[in-house]
Formats: sequence, C-alpha cells, structure tokens
Amino acid sequence: MVVNIEEILEGGLELDKEIPSELLDQALLADGKGTGFRARGAPRLAARLTKVSGGVLLEGRLSARLVAPCKRCVTEVDLDVPVDFTLNLVAHPAPGSGEAAEDKPGVRAGSFSLEEADEERFDGRTIDLDPILREQVLLALPVTVVCEEGCLGLCTLCGQNLNERQCGCERKPPDPRLAKLGEIKLN
Ligand SMILES: [Zn+2]
Ligand SMILES: [Zn+2]
Repeated sequence: MVVNIEEILEGGLELDKEIPSELLDQALLADGKGTGFRARGAPRLAARLTKVSGGVLLEGRLSARLVAPCKRCVTEVDLDVPVDFTLNLVAHPAPGSGEAAEDKPGVRAGSFSLEEADEERFDGRTIDLDPILREQVLLALPVTVVCEEGCLGLCTLCGQNLNERQCGCERKPPDPRLAKLGEIKLN
C-alpha cells in the first residue's frame, strides 16, 4: 500500500484498512526461514500519518490474528498479536532533486518527541507501507507460544500429549536448573 505524501493534509491522514493476509504470510515466511506463525485472515490496519519537519510521523496499529504451534505440545494456538509502532519517516530525496531536508533534532509533533521514534527513510514523495508492516509484524511476534501456562507438553519418550493423558513412561524428573531456564522470558 503506497501513500502519496500529498494525501497527508494539515490535520494528518487517518487510515483504516484491511491488509491482505498474503502480506502477513509473506512476512511470516521470513525469506524462507519461516517463523512458525501463519496468518488467520486479513488484519486491519489503523494508522495515522502526520507531516512533521523533515518528514512524516507514522503511528500505526495492526491487529494480527495468527496461529502457531505450542512450544511444548505442538497443538496449534490462536493468537491475537497487537502490532503497535511509531516511526519517524525521514525524507531523503534523491541527490540533485533540490535541497535535502535537514533533520532537526528534538522537533516536536504534538506531545511526541521525534527523537523517541525509530527512523525509516523514504524518498520524500511516496511512502510504501508494505515493507514497514512486514518488518513491524516480525518485531512484534511473541518469543514463546504456549497453549496455556500449565501446558505439560509431550512425553519425551513416547510423544504422548500429557495434557490429554499420562502415558505411564518413566521419565527422569527435569533438572531444576533447566526448569529455571524455561521460566526466563526474553521479552
Ligand atoms: Zn501446549
Ligand atoms: Zn510416554
């Protein structure tokens, strides 16, 4: 989806659009490496673009409905992942197209300081939202997916889903030091 910056008027430009689920699936494939996540339908994008000195401030929210396997028992889990982002799109016109926009540090748009926003470049005329959305979806993915906090996982010996029933295999009790590792949240 491309926004021409002439569409952004004084009061900003509000977007409320359905994003094709293919765009999400492309992002989730991550250049063939795969993230384990798949889209469950087309998400909605709510975004606001505001012209600021030297560029455009983009504030967006995508509600991505995804599915991914539980890390412990491999059951598919439905997830609603909020993808919130604020980006400072800095105009970098091609060389020779006139005076380059000067970045003024600390310019304020409303109550928001541009210094706090991540920066992306664009050519000064059009903003392609697709690569931005793909990147933001990847950044928002949860590190660990479990079907429920108390998921018992699969038996390491016979593969039985222990949430459904105990299999009776004699498994060694898990090393308490390793169990601690499993509780560490990376996010
Ligand atoms: Zn599970
Ligand atoms: Zn077993």
